[in-house]
Amino acid sequence: MSTDAPGQRQSPPARRPSPRLRTALDDVPTYTPGRPAASGAVPGWKLSSNENPFPPLPGVLQAVAAASERLQRYPDMACGALTDELATRLNVPAAHIALGTGSSGLLQQLLQITTEPGDEVVLPWRSFESYPIVTRLTGARPIQVPLTTDEAHDLDAMAEAVTHRTRLVLVCTPNNPTGRALHRDKLERFLDRVPTDVLVAVDEAYVEFVRDPACADAVQLYRHRPNVVVLRTFSKAYGLAGLRVGYAVAHQPVATALRKAAVPFGVSTVAHDAAIASLQRTDELKARVEHLVAERTRVRADLLGQGWTVPDSQANFVWLRLGRHTDAFTTACQQAGVAIRPYGEEGVRITIGERQANDIVLTVADAFRRNLPDTAPPLRPRRVPGTPR
Ligand code: PMP
Repeated sequence: MSTDAPGQRQSPPARRPSPRLRTALDDVPTYTPGRPAASGAVPGWKLSSNENPFPPLPGVLQAVAAASERLQRYPDMACGALTDELATRLNVPAAHIALGTGSSGLLQQLLQITTEPGDEVVLPWRSFESYPIVTRLTGARPIQVPLTTDEAHDLDAMAEAVTHRTRLVLVCTPNNPTGRALHRDKLERFLDRVPTDVLVAVDEAYVEFVRDPACADAVQLYRHRPNVVVLRTFSKAYGLAGLRVGYAVAHQPVATALRKAAVPFGVSTVAHDAAIASLQRTDELKARVEHLVAERTRVRADLLGQGWTVPDSQANFVWLRLGRHTDAFTTACQQAGVAIRPYGEEGVRITIGERQANDIVLTVADAFRRNLPDTAPPLRPRRVPGTPR
């Protein structure tokens, strides 16, 4: 309470030190979400977050409505029904499954169970932008290994980057944002080179969109490798990004540790029941994914025809390495009503969305390509100084 007499000016509050926060936060980059759909004179389309353009699968909204009648109750912390359903479908023991609030939640849990300050996490770069964020949050150091010139993981360089300080290796297949996916034989050779006491997380957020039969299925690889954990999500192919549910598959010590590190009751009953309802709509899911894969093939073929270099994407997006033209291309799409995802002066990631939106991007890309001052193939990935080759 103030001791100043009435009418007197109050003395300024004593200066107090600010709360002390962890210094590790100083190096944590901020997550950049995809831009919202453009608004104003032009209709807005959002191709900036790798979302599914389809509404939830049939039966999902009914499951959500029914679950929301029990919002006063905590969810089933074990997510028993969804765990059992996934275990049956994947033919793995239920004890090998850990649910989380999207694969983002599981990523955080993974870092919490593996790293201490000063430890290292080997990861490809450019890749999913959360990787360095969640790594730095634990006080560990991300060792970002540049992609190859054809936009894939440099698995040899990643294997060479593993040291006695490495506690976790992140592999992203298909890779966000370049779309390249790893072949089974190459991934197996890589896993053979990683010491068995180092955990390797294979992030398969986009696995349902993979069509190259030579590509790895990490759930098959984990079976004989106790140091492999697979991350998957209901956010992409299943179209439940707004509900936050994903899962990990790993041998029991890792799965148990992941469950220990979870936010209690993080996966809501609404998300849990929506995921189960979605799993039951296999035919409709397949049809939607097939449609998006066909659109991806069409968009890529069209871009290649226009003269662009486009990596073979196995996901629901395509990547254009635009270098210094990244900003101008993003603005051109924005002005035409489509939000896409720029990455500094590296390139853009364009989600495969509604056909109309994809067509707008193709029209913009065609005009942009014709007006490019130099039509040489766009710029190669640059090495990040201080990172291994
Ligand atoms: N991994 C990758 C490679 C991703 O691209 C994303 C989403 N952009 C995620 C994980 C996280 O997805 P969610 O948390 O919605 O499951």
